[in-house]
Amino acid sequence: MPKTAPPAPPTLSTRANAAMLGVALGDALGATLEFMTPAEIRHQYGLHHEITGGGWLRLKPGQITDDTGMMLALSAAILQNDGQVIPLACAKAFDGWMRNRPVDIGNTVRRGIVHFRLSGQAAVQPSIEAAGNGALMRCLPVALATFGADEAATMAAWQAQAHVTHNNALSDLSGTLFMRLVHAALAGANKRQLLHEIAHPFAKAHPEFVFRPKRRDYPSGYVVDTVQAVLQAFFDTDTFDECLVEVVNRGGDADTTGAIAGMLAGAHYGMGAIPARWLKQLDPAIYARCAVEGEKLLPRSQLQ
Ligand code: MN
Ligand code: MN
Repeated sequence: MPKTAPPAPPTLSTRANAAMLGVALGDALGATLEFMTPAEIRHQYGLHHEITGGGWLRLKPGQITDDTGMMLALSAAILQNDGQVIPLACAKAFDGWMRNRPVDIGNTVRRGIVHFRLSGQAAVQPSIEAAGNGALMRCLPVALATFGADEAATMAAWQAQAHVTHNNALSDLSGTLFMRLVHAALAGANKRQLLHEIAHPFAKAHPEFVFRPKRRDYPSGYVVDTVQAVLQAFFDTDTFDECLVEVVNRGGDADTTGAIAGMLAGAHYGMGAIPARWLKQLDPAIYARCAVEGEKLLPRSQLQ
């Protein structure tokens, strides 16, 4: 008999909670570097790998930004509706989040929420300008609530949350990709499967999103840049923390690339892979919600 058994693979529930924490940790880690270039980061920090706050928003250590704030607003809206993703509930949740004076807010998000306030409509018109990463950054609760559902139902739920602010074909495509990746990671797919069965076939079908071989440094808020940087960091590293450190040190929209990478890495590597020191550095109120809400969002039929 071998002396030590291999560690048990993470359970579905702990993958879900780790993904929620991953968003918050990537956001808090990356926010320090938002809008900086890789050269500026190297000069000022060397390699940034601790959650220290600061940045252009002058955050407290462990403080999160709009990415996590909107994710948690969406999570509450889904939990209050028994797992359903309802456009009006999403719009009201985002509106409530904005009324609470968040530390930052994207232009497309602000426009969408103001549109809801003025019109009562929970979806904006299609727009080629809404190709930012604002719908992708907050999407995890939808991926969890639709775990086990087919792609049509999953994408209807994605659109219910996304189109409140971002009604755009590239944004929706990023949703298709990340719903597939997160669902497969939650189900225990390995890296090879995620790469060769999901990411590469998707990029072949939608060449805007090709992420090899050109390195995406200084990714902007354009969702294609974001997706390329996140996929490169996830597939070119072997641990949860390497993935997040790699993507945020590219600068640009670093809190948002960190959040999205954290979602995927959390679902893939699970809770046991998250550094304890990062969990201690995170805002305790945010930790308390993320550490339990991932599991709550999963459909009850999928648990055991
Ligand atoms: Mn942010
Ligand atoms: Mn950002």
